[in-house]
Amino acid sequence: MAQQSDFHDNQQRAGDYLKRFATTVTGHYIGGSWVPTDGAASFDNLSPANNQSLGAVVAGTEADVDAACQAAEDAFGEWAAMPGQARKKLLNHFADLIEARADEIALVESSDCGQAIRYMKQAAIRGAANFRFFADKAPEARNGQSLMQPEHTNLTIRSPIGPVGVITPWNTPFMLATWKIAPALAAGCTIVHKPAELSPLSATLLAEISEEAGIPPGVWNMVHGFGETVGKRLSEHPAIKAVSLVGETSTGSHIMRQGADTLKRIHLELGGKNPIIVFDDADFDRALDAAVFMLYSLNGQRCTSSSRLLIQSGIRDKFLSALKERVANLKVGHPLDPASEVGPLVHKEHFEKVMGYMEAARDGGATIAVGGNRITSMGNGNYVEPTLFVDADNTMRVAREEIFGPVLTAISFDTEEQAIAIANDTEYGLAGYIWTGDTGRAMRMAHAVEAGMLWINSENNRNLPSPFGGFKMSGIGRDGGDYSFEFYMETKNVCIAHDTHSVPVIGR
Ligand code: NAD
Repeated sequence: MAQQSDFHDNQQRAGDYLKRFATTVTGHYIGGSWVPTDGAASFDNLSPANNQSLGAVVAGTEADVDAACQAAEDAFGEWAAMPGQARKKLLNHFADLIEARADEIALVESSDCGQAIRYMKQAAIRGAANFRFFADKAPEARNGQSLMQPEHTNLTIRSPIGPVGVITPWNTPFMLATWKIAPALAAGCTIVHKPAELSPLSATLLAEISEEAGIPPGVWNMVHGFGETVGKRLSEHPAIKAVSLVGETSTGSHIMRQGADTLKRIHLELGGKNPIIVFDDADFDRALDAAVFMLYSLNGQRCTSSSRLLIQSGIRDKFLSALKERVANLKVGHPLDPASEVGPLVHKEHFEKVMGYMEAARDGGATIAVGGNRITSMGNGNYVEPTLFVDADNTMRVAREEIFGPVLTAISFDTEEQAIAIANDTEYGLAGYIWTGDTGRAMRMAHAVEAGMLWINSENNRNLPSPFGGFKMSGIGRDGGDYSFEFYMETKNVCIAHDTHSVPVIGR
């Protein structure tokens, strides 16, 4: 009963917050001003829960991107010169304002991208934490190293690279945008943010907060629209010195091509087909909890989702039987319902793509042990039954392609060597999860599995100073702590002689 009234309250409050998006066209924020949308082309932003329009969003043009890049370029000098302590204060204030609007952010985000509210409540908190973490690092961002030689001392100095482009996806848009933008601002870069067209609303809230926080005009610019126009121009623009993308692997390739002529520095956080490897000696209950959580939370629309379960033959039957029960028991529902564990997929097209894999599983010879169907009892939303494929092998499409939905493929193995071979037999290399009671084996696996992030006996646990990123087709570069500053900053070496060495003499 309490949950029902929470659901009702959530719907009411979300309705209030969303009203403005329904009644006016959502526009760009450029050079410290909201750009008038009169006469501009726009597109409908659809609700994942019923495919009704949440409102129109302006479809940016090349001219809009050019204006935003110019504004970022004009604002760069002063922002870069601002002392780190002042930037720290501003960015901490930004975090306070995120926290003050946490309820609105969670409800708008959940309504816009379909992720269950129980997870989106964390989005604002995580977003604020990203800002605080990098705010505190701003004063020392420029610090480099002191590298001694017998007759010279080398000092390295870091400086912000310039205006940067930040291109984000739809799966957890608020959290990911803050993750990328906070270090860029802390480093002294100005930004042009291009949010995903499928979930544009929380980017608008962020731009509003930047204005409220007193971020100077032109430091934060945001242009809505499509990847092929706005994203493309942004990654080509000569004023933009670096582009940070979170998105699909194919988009990463486009951005490399688009950025080639202007020799852009590129940071790519891309797709994955991450293995969770469960050995016979694993803590059964904790491994089961993690396998369910790391795939079905966030609707399976998570880059680090453990979408391939590699299960050792000794516990295979027992584990799969417990897993089936858990998957069948997951509560699929409206994203604003606090009881929902799985919500609707972001968009009709993505829903069709995910449903296509049910067919692919059957064609490939796997068995659909749980799920496999659209949920029709919930109206016109993009609801998919949480699905488990068993009897699969690693050659099947469902084991090789990123599905990005609540769909898990289970593959069995006998030996450690087989587990390594299967885990690495993929074009991706983002994350891996290893469950075993044997520390030596855990360490051997950690060395052998080709992935940027390995979690041993844990679900995805994010530590902001630690590097986040992938091997192979999962990306280039790392986020987190100083890794982020390395991307957003140039390093200069200054070599100072001790006046003891002999300078080579020619032409005397
Ligand atoms: P996407 O690649 O379709 O879109 C991402 C962004 O790129 C959007 O803003 C889009 O408009 C833009 N874009 C598209 N084409 C472009 C182009 N030619 N030039 C410039 N920009 C362009 O990705 P998506 O479907 O929004 O998100 C899901 C993908 O993101 C999945 O593959 C997922 O694994 C990945 N992802 C990765 C991480 C990570 O940290 N590795 C985190 C979250 C999501």
